[in-house]
Amino acid sequence: MLDIRWRAGLFICALIVISLFSWLISGAITALLIFSTCLLVYILNHIFWLHQLQTWFKKPILKEIPEGFGLWEDIFTILLKYERNNTFNQTQLNSALERFNLATSAMPDGLVILSASNEIEWCTPNAEYQLGLDLMTDKNLPIVNLIRNSQFIAYLYNEQYGEPFKLKSWRNPDLVLEIQLIPFANNQKLLISHDMTQLDKVDVMRRDFIANVSHELRTPLTVVGGFLETLSDMEGAVPEKLRPYFAMMEEQTIRMRRIIEDLLTLSTIESNTEEPDNSDIDMPSLLKSVQNDAIGLSQSLNKTKHKINLEVDSTLNLSGSIDELRSVFSNLVSNAIRYTPTDDAGKSGEILISWALQHGEPVFSVRDSGIGIEQRHIDRLTERFYRVDRSRSRETGGTGLGLSIVKHILIRHQAKLEITSELGVGSTFSAIFPKARIVRPK
Ligand code: ADP
Repeated sequence: MLDIRWRAGLFICALIVISLFSWLISGAITALLIFSTCLLVYILNHIFWLHQLQTWFKKPILKEIPEGFGLWEDIFTILLKYERNNTFNQTQLNSALERFNLATSAMPDGLVILSASNEIEWCTPNAEYQLGLDLMTDKNLPIVNLIRNSQFIAYLYNEQYGEPFKLKSWRNPDLVLEIQLIPFANNQKLLISHDMTQLDKVDVMRRDFIANVSHELRTPLTVVGGFLETLSDMEGAVPEKLRPYFAMMEEQTIRMRRIIEDLLTLSTIESNTEEPDNSDIDMPSLLKSVQNDAIGLSQSLNKTKHKINLEVDSTLNLSGSIDELRSVFSNLVSNAIRYTPTDDAGKSGEILISWALQHGEPVFSVRDSGIGIEQRHIDRLTERFYRVDRSRSRETGGTGLGLSIVKHILIRHQAKLEITSELGVGSTFSAIFPKARIVRPK
């Protein structure tokens, strides 16, 4: 196939040669007439095919591409090829899209794509069912207008998507969802909703079981403990030889009561889905009382006391539940004392309790110069009954539940626990609260 420029050039050359030839034979006027008539036919031919092309473009149906003539035959052949490729690619793309839609619809999880400004761009049928959305009407609407749950809104705007978030469906209270946001591309987000209803039911059964068992054990243990105490106090009731055994029995009942109390506390916190009270906590005075309790604990455990220092930013208060947070601070400080040996020279046994802003976030931290923790244990410390040193925990009155309680209370306050430690050097436990919980004293 000759290049279009060549073919047009050849035609014009032929026309010039014919015109020159007619000039020689029949004179200039005839030559001019022949030249202009041919040129006119040539232009009219192009106009005709251009019009055909324009008409086809208005309704580009592959089968109806004009066949063309001369130069136009080539142009229409190229167009036909291009259109065939295009239709093939389009069909491939449509079938890939259809397969993708079928695959995402078959997924048990719901998927929603959110724009940078959190508007719904696309979602799967499962997401429509689980989150009560309708893509036809809700497309391009902000998701916060449709999922009006304050905890979800806080999760979305806090931009800390490391951990998933549990959401009870407000349309169907029997449905429990786990929501995870994953940022991608230019600030867009992928929202994944996972149906946790069955797992949640099992979890509720587990919690109820622990709570019921703990409740049932509490009364008989109180009775046994009470009688043991009375018998020990009664003169002559216990033969001297048996006294040490009585003391051991008393000690063990006290331990069991402590475990039961901690189990009950943990199950109450875990099953409490309501927001904690958000009262303004006077941190300097709360931490002073935690420090005093710590001094008392240190005296009861050791002949040589710990050095317990307190550094508090007095311009910084916290919003939250005072009872729950007192338990967090006391647990962390009591651990620091229990896992920090002292020596007679008073060189070891230093504990620093601090409360200050770090990178703009309010942080409570306890640093000790104690036994430290090997790195491999750190991630597991908040599991129930996970103890690195069982005997030390028991000797110092531990239940193995303190850090689990701490973790759950912090989650309720949107805070996180960070642990850094070096074996034989000491540990730092930090509770990092969100900026939104900062209160400035008046
Ligand atoms: P426990 O009642 O046994 O102290 P916790 O849940 O409070 O239970 O702590 C879990 C485990 O973490 C402890 O048994 C101990 O091994 C370790 N641990 C906690 N705090 C410290 C600390 N400050 N220094 C060293 N180990 C610690």
